[in-house]
Amino acid sequence: MNTTIATPEYVALLEHGTTCPTCMAMDKDGKNLGLPCEPGDRIYQAYRQTLRGPAAPPQTGA
Ligand SMILES: [Zn+2]
Repeated sequence: MNTTIATPEYVALLEHGTTCPTCMAMDKDGKNLGLPCEPGDRIYQAYRQTLRGPAAPPQTGA
């Protein structure tokens, strides 16, 4: 029962996905274009971090 918790990161991801014109961009057939969105990607990464647990060490890259 840990998949229904609305964390701030999850809420931010939902809000971004429903308000960001870049993430919502569709072609004329109504198919999401999946455009790259830097703010959206950062929000998504932050959300994924919450799935791994709060004790996950920060990733400093290679
Ligand atoms: Zn976006």
